[in-house]
Amino acid sequence: LQHSSSSIRSTFIEYFEANHGHKYVKSSSVVPLYDPTVPFVNAGMNQFKGVFLGKVAPPCAKAVNSQKCVRVGGKHNDLDVVGTDGHHHTFFEMLGNWSFGDYYKREACQMAWQLLLGPYRMKPENLVVTYFSGDVAIGQKMDTDCRDIWKKIGVAESRLLPRGSRDNFWEMGATGPCGPCTEIHYVNPDGSLTEIWNLVFINSFRDNQGKVNGLAKYHVDTGMGLERMAAILQGVPSNYDTDLFQPLIKAIEKNSKGVPAYSGSYLPSAVVDAAYRRLADHARMISICLADGVFPATSLNLKQIMRKSFKISSDVFQNPKLPRILYDEVVETLGTTYPELVTKEIDAKLIIDHEEQGYAKMRSGLKKKMKDLIKQYPEVMKLSDVELPGFVQGYRDLKETMSKQKSTVIPGELVFKLYDTHGLHEEVIKQIADLNKLSIDNKGFWSLLAKHKTRHKTAIKEQDNRGQLFNEALKTLRTNGYTNTNDQPKYDYVQT
Ligand code: ATP
Ligand code: MG
Ligand code: MG
Ligand code: MG
Repeated sequence: LQHSSSSIRSTFIEYFEANHGHKYVKSSSVVPLYDPTVPFVNAGMNQFKGVFLGKVAPPCAKAVNSQKCVRVGGKHNDLDVVGTDGHHHTFFEMLGNWSFGDYYKREACQMAWQLLLGPYRMKPENLVVTYFSGDVAIGQKMDTDCRDIWKKIGVAESRLLPRGSRDNFWEMGATGPCGPCTEIHYVNPDGSLTEIWNLVFINSFRDNQGKVNGLAKYHVDTGMGLERMAAILQGVPSNYDTDLFQPLIKAIEKNSKGVPAYSGSYLPSAVVDAAYRRLADHARMISICLADGVFPATSLNLKQIMRKSFKISSDVFQNPKLPRILYDEVVETLGTTYPELVTKEIDAKLIIDHEEQGYAKMRSGLKKKMKDLIKQYPEVMKLSDVELPGFVQGYRDLKETMSKQKSTVIPGELVFKLYDTHGLHEEVIKQIADLNKLSIDNKGFWSLLAKHKTRHKTAIKEQDNRGQLFNEALKTLRTNGYTNTNDQPKYDYVQT
C-alpha cells in the first residue's frame, strides 16, 4: 500500500529527526499522571506542559513524536460526533514537532509546508491555511507575522484565511499553555475542508482566574492527525476506509449476525454504518486505555465508552464479544508502534470480559425491574434511552410525587433530584415530562443546579480524588505486574 499509515508516521518522524535535528520522544501514556486539569492526554503537547510553564527543563531543544490522544470529556470532547463524521475519533494519533524556546513561526511554517509538498506529495491547490485574527476579549492581536510568513512561503492570498479564537487560539484545557495557531486544511473533492495540521505558537498560558498571561519564552507545538492524513494520502473518502480502520470494520462484519456489510454511508438514515464506525472507534480507545493501565472502575469515561460498545455490539451486531475480538485487530494495526498493547493483552482482555459480564448483569436486572415498572406504568414503553441504572427508581419517584400534587409543573427540586440523585440526563427528563404532559420548572432547576454547582463540584471532587485514585490504581497495577507506570518521562508535568 502506498502511503500506509505506518509509512506516514515514520516519514514524519524521520523528516524532523534526520533532516531537521529533532529528538524522537516516545508517546506518553494516555493517563495524564501528574496533571489533574485534563481527563486524558488530549494532544502531543501534554507531556511537555511543565516545559512550557518553565517548571521543568526541556528534554531537548527540538522534539518530534507520535502521541496517543483521547478526546473524551474536558475541553476537547469529540465523543458526540464520533460515527457521524469520518474524521473525529475518541482515540487518535497526533504527530508533532516541538521547539522549546528554539525556532519559532517562520521555521515551523517552512518545515511544515516542505513536508507536505515534498515527502507527502500534496498539492498547494488542495490546501488552505488559516491564521489568528485576534480577540480583544483576551487581549490578543491579529497574528500578522504568521500571515506574512505564509505569503512569503508562497501561499496564495485567496487560500489564506483569518479565523477567530474558537479555531485559531489553541488551549489545552480550561487552564494551561495556549497561544495563536495556524491550521492547515485539506480541500476535499466536495469543497469542504478537513483540518490536518495545527501549528501552535505557545506564548501564553491561561491561569485559573481565566486571565491569559504572556510567557517568558516562546515555543512551537504542532499536531497532525495521522488518521486524517492516511485518508487523504490513501485517496479514500474517510478515516474509516484507511488501513487503520478497515481491519476492524471487516472483523465486525465477520463476527456479527443479521446486519448488512459496511457501506460507508453518512446519511442520517445509515444507522448501521454509523454503528460500525462507533464500535471500531471505541474499540481502539478501549484497547489503548486498557493497555495504558486505565481502569473502568476509576475512569467513568472509559466505563461509559465500554458500556456503549457492549450495547452496540449486542443490540446492533448480536455479538457482545466484539470489543474483545477487536482488541486483536487493534494489536494487529497498532501493536508494533505501541507494544504495550501486546504486553498488556491478557490483563486488558480480562478487564473487557469482566465489564461485559457486569454489563449483561446490569441489563438483565434492569430488564426485570423495567417489566415491573411497565406493568404499573405501561406508558414507559414509549420512551427510548431508558437504560440508566437510576431510571426505574427515578420514574417511580416522579409518579408518586406528582400524584400528590395538583400542579402539572415538575418542581425544580424534583427535577434536580432526578438529575443528581437518580442520574437521569436532561434529555431523558424532558422526554418523561412530555410523555406525562407535564412541564418542567426549568428556572428552579437551574438555580438549584447553579447553587449546588453540581457539575463543577463533581469536576473538582474528581480532581481532588485524582491523587488518591491514582495511588489506588497504581497499587493494583503493581500487584497485577504492571511496570510501565513508573517510567513516565521525568520532564512530565509535576504538580506543585
Ligand atoms: P477540529 O477542528 O477538526 O476538531 P482541532 O482543531 O480540535 O480539530 P487540534 O486540537 O488542533 O484539533 O489537534 C491537532 C490535529 O489533530 C488536528 O489538526 C487534526 O488533524 C487532529 N485531530 C484533532 N481532533 C481529532 C479527533 N477527534 N480525531 C482525529 N483527529 C483529530
Ligand atoms: Mg476539535
Ligand atoms: Mg480546528
Ligand atoms: Mg486545530
